[in-house]
Amino acid sequence: MAVDEKLKIELGKQGIVVTTLQELYNWGRRSSIWPMQFGLACCAIEMIATTMARYDLARFGSEVFRPSPRQADMMIISGTVTKKMAPQVVRLYNQMAEPRYVIAMGACAISGGPFKQGYNVLKGIDRYIPVDVHIPGCPPRPEALIQAFMTLQKKIDAQPLTGEGRPRHLDAEAQGEFPVPEFGEHDLDPPSNPSVWTVPTIIK
Ligand code: SF4
Repeated sequence: MAVDEKLKIELGKQGIVVTTLQELYNWGRRSSIWPMQFGLACCAIEMIATTMARYDLARFGSEVFRPSPRQADMMIISGTVTKKMAPQVVRLYNQMAEPRYVIAMGACAISGGPFKQGYNVLKGIDRYIPVDVHIPGCPPRPEALIQAFMTLQKKIDAQPLTGEGRPRHLDAEAQGEFPVPEFGEHDLDPPSNPSVWTVPTIIK
C-alpha cells in the first residue's frame, strides 16, 4: 500500500519517517547494484570512464565492480558481441546472482551496430538474455550510462514484491537458467531464445 505523499512530507517536517516494506526493500536493492567487471569492445572504455573520479558512479551505489559473476547482479554489455563470445555472455549471465539486471550499452550490444552485416557478429544480445535498459550511441558517453543506471533504479523502485511484475527471485515459476547457444554447422544454435526475443513485426 502506498503512503500518501503529502502526509509523508508533513510527517517528515516533524522528524517522523514513514515508509513501506516494499519501498525500503527496493531502496536497498537499487542503492547497491554490483556490476560485473566485464567489457567487450570500445564501449567498455566509456564504461570505465564512468567509474572514475570525473563521473563518479559511486554516487549511485554502484562502484563495486566484481570480477566474478557470483558476486555481481548487473551486467553491462559494453561492446560488440561476437558469435564466439555470445555463449560465454549467456553463461556468465546464468551464473549471476538474482535479482540480476542487464544494460545493453551502445549500438553493437543492441543490434550489432556498425558490424551488423558481419558474419561473426550477433545482432543484439537481447536475442538470448532479457535486457532491462538499452542505451543507443557509438559509443554512448558516460552521462548516458549514468542515465541508464538511473532508469534501472527507477525500474527497481517500481517493482512490486508480490503479484505480476515482481522480481524473478521472488517468482518460483520464473526461468532461472537461460539456454546457452552453441556453434552449429553454420551459425549459433538456436539463433535466439524465443522466451525473450521474437522476430519484430515490420509495419510498412
Ligand atoms: S557501439 Fe561503437 S563504440 Fe561501442 S563497441 Fe560498437 S563500435 Fe565500439
